[in-house]
Amino acid sequence: MADLTALTRQALEEVARSTDLAALEETRVRWLGKKGTLTERLKSLGALSAAERPAAGALINEAKERLQAAIEARRETLGREEIERRLGAGRIDVTLPGRGEELGGLHPVTKARLRIETLFRRAGFDVASGPEIEDDFHNFGALNFTPDHPARAMHDTFYFPDGRLLRTHTSPVQIRALRERGAPLAVIAPGRVYRCDSDMTHSPMFHQLEGLAVGENINFANMKAVLHGFLQAFFERDLAMRLRPSFFPFTEPSAEVDMSCVFCDGKGCRTCKHTGWLEISGCGMVHPNVLRASGVDPERYTGYAFGAGIDRLAMLRYGVNDLRLFFENDLRFLRQFGSFGA
Ligand SMILES: [Zn+2]
Repeated sequence: MADLTALTRQALEEVARSTDLAALEETRVRWLGKKGTLTERLKSLGALSAAERPAAGALINEAKERLQAAIEARRETLGREEIERRLGAGRIDVTLPGRGEELGGLHPVTKARLRIETLFRRAGFDVASGPEIEDDFHNFGALNFTPDHPARAMHDTFYFPDGRLLRTHTSPVQIRALRERGAPLAVIAPGRVYRCDSDMTHSPMFHQLEGLAVGENINFANMKAVLHGFLQAFFERDLAMRLRPSFFPFTEPSAEVDMSCVFCDGKGCRTCKHTGWLEISGCGMVHPNVLRASGVDPERYTGYAFGAGIDRLAMLRYGVNDLRLFFENDLRFLRQFGSFGA
């Protein structure tokens, strides 16, 4: 057994030189496998005499165990190195700056519209809509604009060659909703309307809010309470409100709605032209002719209607002084409203 010590040393060196798991496995097979050098040694014990056998067997087993322990330790080391090498190759540098994904936001006019819808839904109104290309009947005729009515001229209407038109107000939705659903009814109709007009406070396309409530015993005081409640909820503050006599073909009596200026609280400033009041809406009791044109009995039902500019409401709420900013799509402007809140 004189060379056993040398063999063991050689085996241990080979284990230490194995630089990866595959090479280590080859070394193990070469020494400890079925036909491995040490295995062969154990098999050869049979050739020894019975007296020599136990001592020789013990020595070989001891060598085998040392080698097994060395292989196990080496395997653990190589395994850990392998994991670290793989982690190193696929490493993510969490300290690098991000790619700067930007969160979008809602347009201020959209935000104002959604806020209006929420407030009126809470008060029991449905949200209705209608087509932007209208016919003369819905946009004018049914709303008590007789064919030669001078108010038609005030609307600066865009006409199509076939006589249809781009709706000049959201009031045609009143007619459509009443004809479809009948009374009693409470709806608002926010939407785009068109007039041939463009300056700091006018755009050829703008957004209007229509409101309509028809039922038995609906009166002027109901309208005043709903409008006042809406304005205070929309601007989130106490506001004074007043009604001035006015004229619209589709309401009788009619009124203009003023609210105390949200910038100076009624003291007088440039925005309210030093009056302390801001004109915010037109309203009135639905004209019996309009109810009749919509198939509703004006002897049994009454109703009120109002209209307001959504863009104007948004301008006042967000402090925007030029209507055109809403439609220029300048990101520097729009980013100032970059959240989804109201
Ligand atoms: Zn003011």
